[in-house]
Order: sequence, then structure tokens, then C-alpha cells
Amino acid sequence: MKRAWRLAIGPALALSLLPPLAAASAGLPLFDAHMHYNVEARSVLTPEQVIALWRHQGVKGVLATSRPNQGTLDLMATLARDGGKDIVIAPFVRPYRVQPDRHDWFANPDIEKLVETELKRGFYRGIGEFHIFGKDADAPYVARMARMAKQRGLWLHAHADEDAVERILRHAPGVRMIWAHTGMSTGLDQVDLMFTRHPSLVGELSYRSDMEENGTLSPRWRALLMKYPDRFVIGTDTWVTSRWSQVPDILATYRRLLAALPPDVAEKIAWRNGISLFAGQ
Ligand SMILES: [Zn+2]
Repeated sequence: MKRAWRLAIGPALALSLLPPLAAASAGLPLFDAHMHYNVEARSVLTPEQVIALWRHQGVKGVLATSRPNQGTLDLMATLARDGGKDIVIAPFVRPYRVQPDRHDWFANPDIEKLVETELKRGFYRGIGEFHIFGKDADAPYVARMARMAKQRGLWLHAHADEDAVERILRHAPGVRMIWAHTGMSTGLDQVDLMFTRHPSLVGELSYRSDMEENGTLSPRWRALLMKYPDRFVIGTDTWVTSRWSQVPDILATYRRLLAALPPDVAEKIAWRNGISLFAGQ
């Protein structure tokens, strides 16, 4: 993937991320279903700049989940102040305060309190992205959280292996779950099997570099997306600050790959699924 803008150091970063207005993008609207505006990014990019980037890139909706959650709250407040009705934010509670929480959040009573406190705000659509693998998904809090999510109609956004996905769905059958990166490296036959077995599972496509083959959508991925047109969404996954400078290229790649699909299917995966599943529209 070539980079449109090189990552600069310090305050220059923000400027380098500001799009040249003459180069406004056209094409398929997009819903970014895997966005983090983490504390490190906040020190170099203002919420106004993030929203300007989305507008410039044709992003109409965003599943926002930030460490800590203040990043998401800042984006929502800025968008509300700006009166923007052209972008919808679907906020998710991130169960992390600091980066190391990703390793043991499920065994930390402070995280359970954090999630409960955040949910009192009343506007969150789900919990995640959280990382969970294998037997860790049987931790008592994971089971409690999955059941609570199902009861309250909240989504889970899990970066997980197949084993952990299965365990969570055993705790709360039918709980709606976004599978971050669609398992990242899970074989497509296995993904197909998981989708058949678990109708509440939705696949998010960031970091699935195997989607591209000879410069276009791979035939196997095409078949899978055609089989489940309502169950895939795209994402940028801005998990480290350097990823922000790649957002235009990442989105351009999605547009290029989705062009290999019939327009109605491409539109669903590009943005309609994101809006209908997470933004209640
Ligand atoms: Zn992520």
C-alpha cells in the first residue's frame, strides 16, 4: 500500500494529515466500523481535524471506540457543536483505560466498574473493541458481560480467535458480535462455518490483507462477501497513531476492492450495513 502522506513527527503530523481541499475524494460513501481515537493520537490530531479527515474521505459513519473513552466523547461533542448531520457516530465503550489493560481487562474489577459507569451515559451501542483469546473468554466477567450485552441489546466488538468467539457465544447465545479483523488470519472455510453456525456474528475486514489478490478482490473473498452481503463491514483500525496517516490509502483500497462486487453488495459492505447495524438508521 503506498502512503499518500508521510508520517511526520510532532505538531507537523496534524498538518500532514490535513487533506488538501482540492483533492476531495469522491465515490462510495464509507462507514468505518473500527476506529480508535486513542490518547496518543489526541496529542497530535484535534477532534476537528479527525472530523475534517472523515468529511474529506467520504466517511459517513464511524464506530468509535477509544482508549480512554474520552476520545470518543470529544469527537461526539465536537460533531454536535459543528451541527454535522452528515456523519453519524456509533459509540462503543472501550474497556481499557491504558494500553496494558488489553491483556487483563477481563480479570480486573475496576474495568467492570468502568464499563458500568460508562454505560450509564445511555448512548453506547456496544462494548469493545476488546482482545480475548481461548480460555480467557471463560473468565466470569466475560460471561457476565456477554449476558448483560445480550439483555441490553448491546453489541460486542471482539478481537478474538475462533475459540474465544465460540466461548462468548456459549455464554450468551445470539449476542450480537463484531468479529474484529474477521479473525485476522482465520481460513475462509472456517469463517464461512462460523458465520453459518452463528447468525449474530458480523465480520469487520481491517488487516485482512488476503482480500487483495493481483490488485483486485480475491475470488474466494468475493464468493464469501456475496454469500453474506449483510454481515461484513469495513474498518481502518487506527490503533496506533501512525495508522492515521494511512487512512486515505486504507479507504481507497476498500473502494478499489469493493468495486469488484455488484454495486448493491459493495454499498452494503462499504456503509449501509454499518449504518443499519450500529447506528440505528
Ligand atoms: Zn482495533
